[in-house]
Amino acid sequence: MECKNCLYNINIPAINFDNEGICNYCRQHNELDNIYPFHEEGRTKLLQIVAEIKADGKNKKYDVVVGVSGGCDSSYLLHLAVELGLRPLAVHYDNTWNGTKAVENIKAITDKLNIDLYTHVADNKEVCDILHAFLKASVPDIDCHTDIALAATHYIAAEKYNIKYIWEGHSFRTEGISPPGWFYMDAKYIKKIFQKFGGKKIKTVPLLTLTKWFKWMLVDKIKKIRPLYYLDYNKEEVKELLKNKYQWQWYGGHHMENRLSYFCNNYYLPLKFKIDLRVCEFSAFVRSGYWSKQEAISELVKPKPFDESILTELCNRLNISLDTFLSYMALPPKTYKNYPNYKRTFILLRPLFWILLKGKYITKSFYDKFTKNN
Ligand SMILES: [Zn+2]
Repeated sequence: MECKNCLYNINIPAINFDNEGICNYCRQHNELDNIYPFHEEGRTKLLQIVAEIKADGKNKKYDVVVGVSGGCDSSYLLHLAVELGLRPLAVHYDNTWNGTKAVENIKAITDKLNIDLYTHVADNKEVCDILHAFLKASVPDIDCHTDIALAATHYIAAEKYNIKYIWEGHSFRTEGISPPGWFYMDAKYIKKIFQKFGGKKIKTVPLLTLTKWFKWMLVDKIKKIRPLYYLDYNKEEVKELLKNKYQWQWYGGHHMENRLSYFCNNYYLPLKFKIDLRVCEFSAFVRSGYWSKQEAISELVKPKPFDESILTELCNRLNISLDTFLSYMALPPKTYKNYPNYKRTFILLRPLFWILLKGKYITKSFYDKFTKNN
């Protein structure tokens, strides 16, 4: 059975269909559309938020932290922040797997807009050791340390410069809603897997431990905003704008600006877990009306690009043979449920997270995905 509207079918975790054959993820998209309207209403809401940010930024060097990866969404956020009269601090977490285009894009935009850049570079050996542990753990989340570390880096920079707002480049209208079970991440999960498979203490990859996270939210009062939720965000138009204005370069696909996420999304996940992230992304395009379902299907049947040289690079960096790597690929798939993590705590604290959501301290996708027993 497949959703009448999008590309999701019965194989997607936690899916259900209504009487009209529309899936719960399409209904969730409509719900987000109602909460975060775009057009005039969205723009008015965003301008209200910008006014609050400006008021808070008075007498400070910066108004807002903008997390940047060199990708399309975050590059556009820098452009948008300046256009709306804000003084952003660009913050980048370097997991040592950046593609050259990502680095060049960050430099091109921050130079042209005269924006300061705060970068935290992790130790490449430590990143490889964490990655190695996750491959042995046989879970899909081998790149989740990057997501956690970049979230922590945003907070660290915000705390350092007394900035109360962090902008994130997520857009449910173009990126979609990944189902629970496809991915999981939290700091305890990372630490426990690292320790179980031979690691000791993580030193250079910043982690969002519960204590630190609550300090940043409840004491420092740092809020998270996703400005793209309020905009009619047409990615193709934005790419053109970035190319023309900043000589920004397209890197061939969503999340492909980083070599590790490229390996993960174009090789590891589809081959080992039968997860094709494009289903999620293209379904979002259909739900948002950017593509017809037929267009999405014809894009989806195209093979995913894959540069085989990344396997050699990965084995070299991990100091393992190709056979060892293939033996990890052949391990029976596991999930976060097989390892200790914060999930039970998140579920227990759901009422507190509801309050934090209302105060804009956490995102709705965190609340929906992490604080529910799914
Ligand atoms: Zn659907």
